[in-house]
This record gives sequence, structure tokens and C-alpha cells, in this order.
Amino acid sequence: MADRPWSIVVHGGARSIPPEKAEAHRAGCRRAADAGAAVLQAGATAVVAARIAVCVLEDDPTFNAGRGSVPNLAGEIEMDAAIMDGASLGVGAVAAVRHIYNPIEAAAAMLAAEPILLVGPGAEDFARSRGVPCAGLPLAPAPSPGGGHDTVGCVAFDQAGHVAAATSTGGLAGTLPGRVGDAPLPGCGFYADDAVGGVSLSGDGEAIARALLGARVMRAMEEGHAGTAVNAIRAPMQRLAAEAGVIAIDAAGRIGMAHNSDHFAVAFADRNRAAAIAVLHETEWRKEMNHD
Ligand code: ASP
Repeated sequence: MADRPWSIVVHGGARSIPPEKAEAHRAGCRRAADAGAAVLQAGATAVVAARIAVCVLEDDPTFNAGRGSVPNLAGEIEMDAAIMDGASLGVGAVAAVRHIYNPIEAAAAMLAAEPILLVGPGAEDFARSRGVPCAGLPLAPAPSPGGGHDTVGCVAFDQAGHVAAATSTGGLAGTLPGRVGDAPLPGCGFYADDAVGGVSLSGDGEAIARALLGARVMRAMEEGHAGTAVNAIRAPMQRLAAEAGVIAIDAAGRIGMAHNSDHFAVAFADRNRAAAIAVLHETEWRKEMNHD
């Protein structure tokens, strides 16, 4: 493929990150963005890049997704993941799964299937039927889970101008068994449409879903730059006294992010800066991106 513009942004959750854990969050996000950037540069689709980047984050115990998932009230892990293809509006999502090493792989396998969301044992049977690696026993919680909002996500824009968004989470620590938040719900924890762009969110899942937060950012992006559209999270989160963070890429491939949590671990790369840049604070981000 010709050398056309591409871009990618990943997040490792909107939360307070203690100073001693900051570098692990930065490094994990950078590795994931680098992995996605490498395949985008080589001409892969946005869906493939987002899936690969989220797999890297799920495999990193720093984050509350996949390997690093936090326990619920019963001491068990239940994971949710979703991916959306902005070219076809295809959605694949799984929720409350306990045996799948990389829930985003199961979600990606669903892009080719009719349902958009499968939960629990049904999702796991589907994953096994598609050859997605599953454990025999439920996966154990991370030995020292962070307990914060370390949900992970990615938005990617490929050389053909297609957008994809992906989100994966171990949910919130100590919640009722069976609880599902925003992460696998389109328009809440993620969305992608080539005509507009894509978003992936982290934060208080119930508030994000009540506010349809992903859809609000998408709507704001219809009017302009991802870098300003992301501010659509601020008023609803203030109203609900809740925390959230969002990453976005618009239909022109421009990146944006915003959060009202103390920190938001993010990394991004594009054709002009193939080495992913990793940041934790919005102030750092704005300096890097030359916003305002
Ligand atoms: N949004 C996720 C959830 O509520 C949690 C997070 O962002 O860490 O399940």
C-alpha cells in the first residue's frame, strides 16, 4: 500500500496512578501503541491494529484487563471486551467471561457473526468454537490488582481511511457477580464509524452508560476536530459526579483525548511520529499535540 497517513491512540485507564506505578503505565501503553503502529505502517487494517494493541495491554498485568483483571465481590474475575469496525459498523463484544485469555480476540471473532454481544458461557462457547484460546478453569485475579480504572482501549485509523475502536476491562473491583459496565456497550465504552471517527472510554461504567458518553463524543466529532470533541465528556460527568477518560480519532485521522480523573495513561503514534509517545497527564498531552 502507498505510504498514506495513519494514526493510533491507546489508553490504560482513567484513574489516579501512584508515582511508583507511573512508568509501568507509560511503558505498557507505549508498547501497545508501538505494536499497533508497526502493523498500520505496514498497511494493516484499523481493526487488526486495534485488536493487536489491546492484546498487548490485556497481556500486561499492570492493567485491569485480561491478565491483570480485578476480582468481583465473590473474588472472581469477569471480563468484558468489544471491538467495532467503522467501515462496516460491525460490532463484536463479550461480557462476564472468565476463561478467555484475551477477551478482545473473542470480540474480534464475533465481527464476522450476527450477534453483537454474547455473555458468560455462551460467549465462551463461541470463542472456543472459533479457536480463541481459553483456560480449562476460570482465570485467577491478578495477585496484586490495582483496583482502579485500568480498563484499556485503542482507536486506530488505517491507510485506507478506516477507523476501529476497541475496549477491554476486568470491570470494577468488588462489584456484584454478573455486573457489566460500559465497556461492551456500543455508544457507551466504544464506537467507530468511518464517516465520523472512533472512541474508547474508561471510568465509572454505570455513569458512562447512563450518559451514553461515547455517543456524545461521536456526535461532537461530527462537527469538528477530535481534540475538541472529547470535551463532550466534561458536563455529563460533572452532573453525575463521576470520572471518565476518552481517546478519539476523527475521520481525518486526528487524535484527541480528555479525562476528569487525576491521570489517564495514553500513548499515540502516527505516520509522522512512528515511535509512540506516552503521557499520563492532560497537560503533557496538550503540549505534545499542540492543542490550545
Ligand atoms: N469502565 C469500566 C467499567 O465500568 C471500568 C474502567 O474503566 O476501569 O467496567
